[in-house]
Amino acid sequence: VEYQKHYYAGSRKELIAKVKEQVSEKRFKHILGVEQAALELARANDYELEKASVAALVHDYAKERSDSEFKALIVQTGLEQDLLNWNNFIWHGVVGAEIIKKELKITDEEILNAVRRHTVGAKEMTMLDQIVYVADYIEPGRDFPGVDQARQLAAESLRAAVEFETKHTLLYLMNNDKTIYPAAILTYNAYVAS
Ligand code: GDP
Ligand code: FE
Ligand code: FE
Ligand code: FE
Repeated sequence: VEYQKHYYAGSRKELIAKVKEQVSEKRFKHILGVEQAALELARANDYELEKASVAALVHDYAKERSDSEFKALIVQTGLEQDLLNWNNFIWHGVVGAEIIKKELKITDEEILNAVRRHTVGAKEMTMLDQIVYVADYIEPGRDFPGVDQARQLAAESLRAAVEFETKHTLLYLMNNDKTIYPAAILTYNAYVAS
């Protein structure tokens, strides 16, 4: 994918270099895998490749920032203060989007929303939201029970993969007595329950 629309003020190679500076080698590989998966989903669903690439490449940009940086940003930027009760899992997307806007000068709200929603989804997800959410789950480096079924579903239907991922993530969290972020339940109600 050649970048032409300037969602990012540089080439794809330059964006990749910026991301690489921010994360461990392992996470960097994951991010490239998410981009690959996102491009495949974009092709299959007639979605703009450049936008899918940028969103995938930045989705975990802020994942390795400290808790104190996230907390300070929640206070300073006036984001919902209840976020202070959560942790990196939730912050790196929702608060990470603000870091991406500031540091990478990415202002496209659809790209920022896809980053915000990539971990727990949302009641209403755009095609880009769904592409990043699913690509994060099925990228080639992921290995967990059910991932092959998720990949197969994603190849047939993006929406079916969103349903599967949402249901299985919630089941996993419940089986392990983890707290469930309220938005994750809204995603479940919208995409799984009927
Ligand atoms: P990653 O950033 O590529 O590792 O992937 P994600 O952003 O999708 O997920 C980060 C972590 O958040 C994973 O370990 C998920 O199990 C966890 N997670 C997803 N949804 C929830 C939730 O509702 N509550 C909690 N506590 N954790 C969640
Ligand atoms: Fe993430
Ligand atoms: Fe995910
Ligand atoms: Fe990720």
